[in-house]
Order: sequence, then C-alpha cells, then structure tokens
Amino acid sequence: MTDFKKLAVPGVQKLNPYIPGKPISELERELGISNIIKLASNENPLGPSPKAMQAIQGEMSELALYPDGNGFALKKALADKHQIDMDCITLGNGSNDVLVLLAEAFLTPEHNAIYSQFSFAVYPIAIQAVGAEHQMIPALPWQSNSPLGCDLDLMLDSINQQTRMIFIANPNNPTGSFLGKRQLYEFIQKVPAETIVVLDEAYLEYAPADERVDGSEWLSEFDNLVITRTFSKAYGLAGFRVGYALSNPDIANVLNRIRQPFNVNSLALVAAEAAINDDEFLARSMQVNAKGMQLLEEQCKALKLRYAPSKGNFLLIDFGQDAMPIYQQMLELGVITRPVANYGLPNCLRVTIGSESEMQRMVKVLEQVCG
Ligand SMILES: *Cc1c(COP(=O)(O)O)cnc(C)c1O
Repeated sequence: MTDFKKLAVPGVQKLNPYIPGKPISELERELGISNIIKLASNENPLGPSPKAMQAIQGEMSELALYPDGNGFALKKALADKHQIDMDCITLGNGSNDVLVLLAEAFLTPEHNAIYSQFSFAVYPIAIQAVGAEHQMIPALPWQSNSPLGCDLDLMLDSINQQTRMIFIANPNNPTGSFLGKRQLYEFIQKVPAETIVVLDEAYLEYAPADERVDGSEWLSEFDNLVITRTFSKAYGLAGFRVGYALSNPDIANVLNRIRQPFNVNSLALVAAEAAINDDEFLARSMQVNAKGMQLLEEQCKALKLRYAPSKGNFLLIDFGQDAMPIYQQMLELGVITRPVANYGLPNCLRVTIGSESEMQRMVKVLEQVCG
C-alpha cells in the first residue's frame, strides 16, 4: 500500500499528534467498571452554565439553517464585556482553532515560532503543521520562584529575525505556573514589533480577581499582542467548541480571511453568549475549584508529593518515579488522570480539580496508591 505518511507535507510527518484525555466510556469498556470519574481534561465539574443550557433550547428549531457566519450577537456581547471594538474579535471553534489560524496566517517555512518547555501541546503542532520551525525554550527549574514556569529572559534572548510568533499560556497548562503582571508587561515591551505575542488565557478566570493578569488591557498599547480565551474551561462549554482571539483589527482581519465561514456552530454561539453574563455560575466554579485545589494540595503535602503551585483548575503532581504504573492503578480504582510523559514529564500526572465529592474520592485514591 502507498505510504501516505510519506506523502504528507514535511511538517506534518514530523509532528507528535495531540493525545487527549481518556474518555469515561473507553475506560468502562476496557475495565468493565462503572462509577468512573474523569479528572483528565480540565473540564468544569459543574457542567455547562444553566443559562447556556436554556439558551440552546430556543435554537434547536433553527438547526437547518447555517449559523451567523459573523457571530454578530456573540461578538457584540464580547465587545461589551472587554470594552473593545467588535472588529478586534476573531471567533474560533475552541481557542485551539484560533491558535491554528494564527500559525496558518503568519508562519511560513522561513519563520520560527517559540514557546516554553512544558507548555500547551497544541503550540508545536500548529507551528509544525505549517512547516515553520518550532523552538522550545527550556523552562525554569522546579527550584525557582515559578516551578517549571516560562523563562521570559531566555525567551527574549532566543528571538531572532525569523521569529514571527511567541506562544505563552498564562496560567500555563500542564504546569499551572503563572507570570506576574509586571514581568509579562516588561517582556512584551521588549519583543520586536513584527513578532506576534500570543497570550493564551484559557485559565485566566481561575485566579482570584486581584491576582489575575488580564493581557487584554494592553491591546491598545501593543499592536503585536493577541489574547486568546475560551469557553471550554471556567464556562463549562468544552463540548461546544468555542473560543476567541482579541487583537488589533488588522490581525483580526487577517485571521477572519482564512477561518472557515461557519467555524462556530449555532448552538455554541448562543450558549457562549448566554454564558458570558452568568456571573453566578462563574463564581460558583471558582469556589468549587479553590476548595478542591486546597484539598488536593493538602493531601499532596501529607503524602510528601511535590507539586507545581497552580493558578488553573488542575495540579501537576510529581511522584518521583515513573508515573505510568500510578496512573494505571488509579484507572483501576476508577479515576482518570492525565499522563504528561509526552510533555517530557514522565514522573508527573496532571489532576483536574473536580467537584467536592470527586475530590474526596481522588484524595482517598491518592492515599491508597501512594500512602
Ligand atoms: C484547554 C486549553 C485551551 C482551550 O482549548 P479550546 O480549544 O478552547 O477548548 C487553550 N489553551 C490551553 C493552554 C488550554 O489548556
């Protein structure tokens, strides 16, 4: 048979595909057990915002029609929320879509794009898929004030003439590490005007309001800054696939040239629009997360397990040994966590903060496996 991988464009041949968290149904089939909990994909344990659920009911009868290709109502709501013009917004089928659009629109095989070690796996995939060179910058060590976090100084030093894009997640996944306002601002100031800084704020909502670093405040100052946000995490709409970018109108215009005309489906559009203003749901999500995080951190301390301090809805735990057997044992006890060996962290697992009862079960399982 023809070797079709060999026929693929060189960047695609080389890249390591994304490995998603194991779905509950798959584990049920494999082990024949039920009552499984999934703490593997940073999903919201509260489910979708009730306002979003209600909004899609009214949209069901419209499903024969194409969605609004411009996403007017959602963009309007986002423009109000961020106090920004509508033409600064690019909607995506999840923020993943927007990240890919950025790479497609701005990177060529003559360019490189940089990102930190232990940051989101989608960055190198998006960069390589368009044939650009991907450059991973070593992260800070465990023993630093930002364990496994992004080394901004090293990143600055690595920028050259061909560097067209920098991806930074703040907070970062899978480490949970977090860059302060001032250091990030000073970093962006030093980045050349033709290098686009993509600040991925998928987990922004989880930090307490006074600690949050909201890069969208800097958009009017930096033309080369792009902020990405998602409804998949704190808003509980991962299954709908909707996210967006905020940027100057010229960048948004470029992205909108190449996005699929109907890249966000009609249910996702109305769900996201309804969810934006559900502050009560967002507050509850933060509360559940803070409580669950505390419980998990305390258990790690009790079991003398090292973890990376996290400002997200997940915790990266270091087991000090190959984590795969521990992952397997937890699976058999009905808890799905996320191996991160593909990120170069073979001794760690990433655990999503679930509901209170899920976390009670998680800490028991942790005790059983590591105690
Ligand atoms: C989950 C996540 C996203 C969001 O993905 P969606 O495509 O919006 O579901 C983006 N960036 C990071 C770092 C993430 O962890």
